[in-house]
Amino acid sequence: MSKTDRSFKRVVLKLSGEALRESGSQDNISPEIVERIACEIKAAHSTGMEIAIVVGGGNFWRGASASARGMDRATADYVGMLATVMNALAVQSALEAEGVPCIVQSAIEMKNVAEPFIRRKASRQLKEGRVVVFAAGTGSPFFSTDTTAALRASEMGADAILKATMVDGVYDADPKKNPEAKRFNKVSFQTCIVEQLKVMDSTAFTLCMDNDIPIIVFDLNVHGNITKAIVGQDIGTIVSKDSDEV
Ligand code: UDP
Repeated sequence: MSKTDRSFKRVVLKLSGEALRESGSQDNISPEIVERIACEIKAAHSTGMEIAIVVGGGNFWRGASASARGMDRATADYVGMLATVMNALAVQSALEAEGVPCIVQSAIEMKNVAEPFIRRKASRQLKEGRVVVFAAGTGSPFFSTDTTAALRASEMGADAILKATMVDGVYDADPKKNPEAKRFNKVSFQTCIVEQLKVMDSTAFTLCMDNDIPIIVFDLNVHGNITKAIVGQDIGTIVSKDSDEV
């Protein structure tokens, strides 16, 4: 059975840090936006799906940018990982306010605010109906939270990664520069590599490809899209081993 027939039981939702910020605002986290996202996750969770979340930190900090400005890269990356913890706590708080049971597990131990990452415990919590938010990335510098999503999806046996973005899928060219650009409904890992289509960074992408984990790329700003992605409605782009379909 193909993994893209959407008989999903467990998914990893990747939220970028930027998704939590209101564009043009000074605030790194918008409580209103986080609340809206929590409502979307609540609806998706009510379908019975096991949902783990990996949250980024780019609304606060990106290690590579700080390093380009002279900071030691590993230290800059640890700052980035700590930023993801702030976002994870904001997401947890909003989910709990919506009545969705949720725990945060951090790859960098900070027992006062989050549980440590323990794979088997996370799996049990998901089975028991809690949303598990993975914070602090992989716990190692030189990686991204996209790679964290690929890693956690692999080790948690997730059926897919839902990559929530600000665009509605993967195009064959940059739609902002080329009005003729076509959006793929389905695109293979192979085409993404050959055509250099940017879906995730290469480490994350390779991990998904090697472990046969489809990635569904969709627009987070459209109401109901997380649920639609889970139940198999035709939104965004599925990146998988299957062949291309524009
Ligand atoms: N980061 C890291 N290791 C990880 C995950 C993240 O060092 O396993 C750091 C890295 O500096 C990165 C920052 O955390 O720039 C924020 O993560 P990311 O850029 O992936 O966030 P997003 O773009 O998804 O908001």
